[in-house]
Amino acid sequence: MSLQQKYNDINWLTGQFRDSRREASYRDSIKLRVRHDSRLALMLVSLIFAMFAVTDYNLLGHSTDFFTLISMRAVVVSSCVVLALILGRVGNFSRKPLLHALPLWVLAAGIISIVPLRPESLYTQITAVVVAIMAFYLLIPSLLTIASWASGFLSVGFIVASVAYAEVSVPTATRLVLLLIMANIVGYCALLRLEILQRKQFSLLNEERDQNLALQREVEHRKSLEAQLRRLAERDTLTELDTRSHFIKRAEALLERALRENTAFCLLMIDVDHFKQINDTWGHTRGDEVLKQVAKTIRQSLRRVDVVGRFGGEEFIVAMPNTHHKEAVKLAQRLTANVNAIELPSPLNQVSVSITVGIAMKSNERSLDLLIQRADEMLYKGKRNGRNRVELAR
Ligand code: GH3
Ligand code: MG
Ligand code: MG
Repeated sequence: MSLQQKYNDINWLTGQFRDSRREASYRDSIKLRVRHDSRLALMLVSLIFAMFAVTDYNLLGHSTDFFTLISMRAVVVSSCVVLALILGRVGNFSRKPLLHALPLWVLAAGIISIVPLRPESLYTQITAVVVAIMAFYLLIPSLLTIASWASGFLSVGFIVASVAYAEVSVPTATRLVLLLIMANIVGYCALLRLEILQRKQFSLLNEERDQNLALQREVEHRKSLEAQLRRLAERDTLTELDTRSHFIKRAEALLERALRENTAFCLLMIDVDHFKQINDTWGHTRGDEVLKQVAKTIRQSLRRVDVVGRFGGEEFIVAMPNTHHKEAVKLAQRLTANVNAIELPSPLNQVSVSITVGIAMKSNERSLDLLIQRADEMLYKGKRNGRNRVELAR
């Protein structure tokens, strides 16, 4: 079943959704409107019903029948007003459909009871009954089932009362039956169409809302994927330092600025000494732990302005903006000392970790590639000169 079909699965006879949960949610969505409209419609209908007291008086004058009629009208009107107030507060098709049926039955009973009290005015009353049937279907908000039962009761009751008290002839009674059947059919069809249209509109709105929600979720999902991808591209997963490509991007921007503003800039290449031995002795996983610890020490030993990246394997790279070579050497020496002092958890505590650092400065090389190359040369010079040391390009 397609989504559209599912949403539009409406009973063609009652105009209600076949799915009870969907029907309940629709009724819930119209709750406030139903309350407001029910109160207004019932007040209006009661007023019209009360106004007919004037014609009663014209026809009956100060008679017992008039007082009986006026009492009946008072009962009907006051019941309807009370029910209008109750419905205005708690009216809800979902939970109280019978409460919505009540005023219709009270009105129907009131209209029927006029026949024995004023049989001579039957023809005026026929018009009133047809109008009432239309009001039941279209003016007073209620479910189609409720409206049709109440209209059925009004029609049958009125015909029975007419035959019993107004002594209508058989042809007149037949015409009356046909007229009321027609009024009921018209009212029923009009309300059925309305019920179906309103539910279809509700379905479309819901469908649109669901689609919007799905779209919103998709956008959020994509955003989070994008952020994840960006993180993956920018952050090295093992050491949490910048990846090589991200480092290059940031370092290039820093170098460009240093060239433009003619400020100092140094680049450090760092390599862990004899790391292969660590791996060979303790295994790759423990080697990873050492790498993580070294990376953390590098990050913590440097300043916030320094950009640190993992260049690859056990090699790290640092860009130092606004830093003269003397300061860079001092920082690198502090760095090597801090790495020497790393205390690894057992059994790695037997391992002594050291790094060799090569430094290149902007005054010698003007492109990042050349600076990297120069720092790398210094790094290998440091390796040749015994490791665990700092070498500066002159
Ligand atoms: P040197 O002092 O000359 O730098 O010696 P070295 O042993 O550190 O140098 P070499 O380049 O021979 O070895 C680097 C080792 O680092 C080899 C490689 O297996 C290891 N390695 C590279 N990336 C990783 C990693 O992500 N995790 C671990 N555990 N080892 C890595
Ligand atoms: Mg290496
Ligand atoms: Mg090494």
